[in-house]
Amino acid sequence: MHIHSYTNSDFGDREPATDHYGVKGAVNADVHRAATFAAFKKLNIVKAVVSGNPQSVDEWFEKDSHHIVIRGILMYTPNDYGMDSVKLEQMIKDKKLEVFGEIAPYYGGTTLSDSIWQPYLRICEKYNIPVAVHTGGGDPGGTYSWSPKARLRLADPYLIEDVLVKYPNLRIYLMHGGGEDWPEHAIRLMAYYPQLYTDLAVLLWVEPNTQRYVKELLRNAKEAGYLNRIMFGSDQMIWPYAIEKSVRFLNSLNFLTKQDKEDIFYNNAAKFFGLKN
Ligand SMILES: [Zn+2]
Repeated sequence: MHIHSYTNSDFGDREPATDHYGVKGAVNADVHRAATFAAFKKLNIVKAVVSGNPQSVDEWFEKDSHHIVIRGILMYTPNDYGMDSVKLEQMIKDKKLEVFGEIAPYYGGTTLSDSIWQPYLRICEKYNIPVAVHTGGGDPGGTYSWSPKARLRLADPYLIEDVLVKYPNLRIYLMHGGGEDWPEHAIRLMAYYPQLYTDLAVLLWVEPNTQRYVKELLRNAKEAGYLNRIMFGSDQMIWPYAIEKSVRFLNSLNFLTKQDKEDIFYNNAAKFFGLKN
């Protein structure tokens, strides 16, 4: 429930960035998309929420002959891509947007509860469009470069509580389960708001430290009885190999039963999105 798409403008001319393990990212948008689609096929992935700039999401949708792509949008601030509420509503009416997310107000210095996001949330509630919101920190060096307004404290899941109260019928899921920072807050929020789901995303692969936290999150969610609202996602960014790595990591966790894994990989998301089994 968490895949990223790009256009070549997102890559630029520089050497592809390396991840924590020194693995270089895809060299361009075509290579990246082909490798991601190949991973879908190899791993039998039947649906993926894809977020990126609207052009990249359109391209993926057009090239997706297996109808895997669920069209999202990546936004850090409410006016990314010149967006406003009229344009968003039109995208939904034109059936070009199926999930409002990944929405990552953290990077732009706001929270989803801030007034500037409310017109969008009202539209999502009206059209029954699910919202996917980034929680937990991200890109530790980013605050000194591309996301100067990002502050860790803005990524606390508790900061979306007002949204849950204001729009009780809104379908919404957390991304990254509160990150390394607030896995407990993610679980507590799910306890208070039974409509709330979370995905696991980047935690499954990006660093040994996030893998440590995600194990804790899953163990605690299982013990607490909230595993049925946790959804798989890889958040591969520019590293398509991360999809298989994430699948393998989740499969390696011995404290989860086969049924638990099937629920996390498919059943919970099918329930959240109302997919037919
Ligand atoms: Zn993401």
